Amino acid sequence: MSKKTLHHVGELYLITHLQKNFKYNLKSLIAGIGDDAAVIKCEEDYLLLTTDMMLEGVHFDLHYITPYQLGFKLISVNVSDIYAMGGTPQYALLNIALRKNSETSFFNMLFKGIKHALSYYKTVLIGGDISAVKKDISLAATVVGSTKKPILRSGAREGDKIYVTGYLGESACGLEILKKKGVCVKPSNNLLKRHLMPIVKNPDKIKEIATSMMDISDGLLIDLTRLCDESRVGAKIYEDKIPISLQMKRVALSLGLSPIELAMTGGEDYELLFTAPPDKKIQAIYIGDIVKTERVIINKQGTKKEIKPFGYQHF
Ligand code: ADP
Ligand code: MG
Repeated sequence: MSKKTLHHVGELYLITHLQKNFKYNLKSLIAGIGDDAAVIKCEEDYLLLTTDMMLEGVHFDLHYITPYQLGFKLISVNVSDIYAMGGTPQYALLNIALRKNSETSFFNMLFKGIKHALSYYKTVLIGGDISAVKKDISLAATVVGSTKKPILRSGAREGDKIYVTGYLGESACGLEILKKKGVCVKPSNNLLKRHLMPIVKNPDKIKEIATSMMDISDGLLIDLTRLCDESRVGAKIYEDKIPISLQMKRVALSLGLSPIELAMTGGEDYELLFTAPPDKKIQAIYIGDIVKTERVIINKQGTKKEIKPFGYQHF
């Protein structure tokens, strides 16, 4: 990595580098770097640990998002990683850095959002750290949860079907609305809500049958690539099965954007992506199949296109 910049090597490379360099042979460590949350075997069940940060100017813009929404979203994105392991969130720790001249109402509203999200997900705040910053504010949460049966990214097998739990591309479309039209859009707009205040789905109905699972945080194609890499399998997905809402389609087209592109590569939907054996009945949207090695998208005409890990990447 000597002379190359982080931008040159990209996020996927960096994570793989960490994964290789911090590989441990510990009996209790069931999953470490590379999955949505770390999994540690305890006496009766498995402990799940995850952390995610949100930085001003990178993850959010205070012109668009209210402090209440920001607080709610911080908890949602972290809970999403616990749900993605088939777990139940229990405790949260927060590391928060704010500007000295921030108004106390900002702090109060931020924590109101955090509190509502914690109570929605039945989780409690048990600690954290707080600091002042000179410029951009930074928020990070660590969520601890547990499960009786962790669902890893590595469990997909040839022949499994691939599912998602809801419409894709909505959050990315919401962000495009904000970027193009600014804040003069009705805050009740569902696409905006999906971007500004995502509410993540509990995997209760899925976890008994899923063979592998993750949340879609960076985009379907890049996240499916991660799941396939971890499971050492390929995937075939069918373009006409990708769930796109009529509203997203209409708005995307009016903004000159491709709905299918948004659905495949848009980040922050926080829907679950999972695989399950073909004989199981499931209330989710079937989008493709796990195959041996090939990774392709098949369109209505039957034309195949290689799956490239396009989606949101830092660096
Ligand atoms: P997600 O989008 O699910 O939150 P990330 O892209 O943040 O996942 O991280 C991918 C994987 O890399 C996770 O297993 C995470 O724990 C690990 N990871 C990310 N950053 C670091 C880091 N600084 N040190 C160790 N592991 C990291
Ligand atoms: Mg993360």
